Amino acid sequence: MSLLEVTDLTKHYPVRQGIVVAKQVGTVRAVDGVSFRIERGETLALVGESGCGKSTTARLVLRLIEPTSGTVRFDGQEVSGAALRTLRRRVQVVFQDPYASLNPRLRVGETIAEPMEVHGIGDAKSREARVQELLRLVGLAPFHAQRYPHEFSGGQRQRIGIARALAVQPDLIVCDEPVSALDVSIQAQVVNLLKDLQRQFGLSYLFIAHDLAVVRHMADRVAVMYLGQIVETAPKRDLFAAPRHPYTRALLRAIPHPDPRRRGQVTPLGGDVPSPMNPPSGCRFHTRCPFVQDLCRAEVPVLRDIDAGTRVACHLAETLPPFEAEVGDGLSEVATRRLALYAAAKDRRASGIR
Ligand code: ADP
Repeated sequence: MSLLEVTDLTKHYPVRQGIVVAKQVGTVRAVDGVSFRIERGETLALVGESGCGKSTTARLVLRLIEPTSGTVRFDGQEVSGAALRTLRRRVQVVFQDPYASLNPRLRVGETIAEPMEVHGIGDAKSREARVQELLRLVGLAPFHAQRYPHEFSGGQRQRIGIARALAVQPDLIVCDEPVSALDVSIQAQVVNLLKDLQRQFGLSYLFIAHDLAVVRHMADRVAVMYLGQIVETAPKRDLFAAPRHPYTRALLRAIPHPDPRRRGQVTPLGGDVPSPMNPPSGCRFHTRCPFVQDLCRAEVPVLRDIDAGTRVACHLAETLPPFEAEVGDGLSEVATRRLALYAAAKDRRASGIR
């Protein structure tokens, strides 16, 4: 049994117009039939361009918003009613912006202890001890409990956010772009911290990110979203080495090449993302797809098994030419250098230098 099982999840927002009588003039299909699973101890990365529905999916999983239809099962139980309380404790979140997500008027110790109070875990004394332990776990010091958020850097604030998420011993942490607001060198430290904590506590992550270099470092499996739907899911290695969906290929190619002489050879992703209010017929990617055929305009492709562990929603998946990587195995030098940075930061941590 998977830890999290999301089936056919949709979230539609009505679009209304009119000052006196608001009339519904359309529907934003923010999330439109999304299914995926997350196993214990696994990281599933959700990637895609801005506006494709990643954050809405995260908020649906956290039940911060109600789905229009579809189900979320957590540890075998459908999330609704009484099961919601369990979910609130066992699924935690780390947000993108460490400046906005901490209450500036609370001391760090109070911020970290708050979820324990909400869930009635321990007494004041044991919570205080737990706060000290959590601060150490995320690479901060016990005396930091007395300080206020403004006294910390962005990276340190994100560590505080992670300590708060860990406080109630969750099984799953939804990380919504957890490092995209941080400097690259700091990103590496936070990503490595998340990986260390995962190993230590067997955590699962739903990791939302648009940066493929970070995803490559973090994920076990990747789900690629386009206009509210998943177009490909695959183990990380397969996805980066042999992406099957034309959109996934475009995303990998769109990482800019550092050498201007080679930039022209890289096919950029043409055109804008169509509106989720009025998605294209058939395959939603057909308006931007270099391989488009009549069938793609007419028929909706379903997400289907194609290789072991790989599912793709493309009529032409079997007939596409192989993905020849522009550089190395599909990542540009920028991304490769950043991966080296992550590895170096990890080595420094391992040898006790911070
Ligand atoms: P991502 O996280 O991938 O950038 P989002 O999940 O934030 O995408 O948004 C998906 C789509 O849903 C976007 O077109 C966005 O404008 C729309 N959307 C998100 N929230 C709302 C809302 N509360 N009302 C109307 N439309 C929304």
